[in-house]
Amino acid sequence: MSDCLFCSIVAGQVPSNKLYEDALCYAFYDIAPQAPTHFLVIPKAHISSVSAVNSENEAVVGHIFSVIAQLAGQLGLESYRVVSNIGEQAGQSVLHLHFHVLSGRDMTWPPG
Ligand code: AMP
Repeated sequence: MSDCLFCSIVAGQVPSNKLYEDALCYAFYDIAPQAPTHFLVIPKAHISSVSAVNSENEAVVGHIFSVIAQLAGQLGLESYRVVSNIGEQAGQSVLHLHFHVLSGRDMTWPPG
């Protein structure tokens, strides 16, 4: 999508601090980290949010969780939180599906 920030990051048109990339997904460090370790994993193909996941595109979500587990292992993360915000009230600011991976500090529940 031409006006999507994360599509522009995937295309290399906007710089990012890349952590991982394969044919289906892209991982990069969040520009405004909310924990000592905070990165995002996104599908390369544009999906607006979890709300737009369906039987035709669901495979990439499983793949992303496999990549998250792999990256967490490589980074030595023993405890971490995976978050995806859907919609404005939940705090979604970029309308391209992304999973936050946060680690390295105590976290509260329920989230604010
Ligand atoms: P959300 O608010 O859940 O939609 O998450 C979007 C995230 O993208 C926020 O945590 C932002 O800090 C992050 N973000 C926005 N622009 C960039 C960028 N250019 N590079 C890395 N992370 C970004």
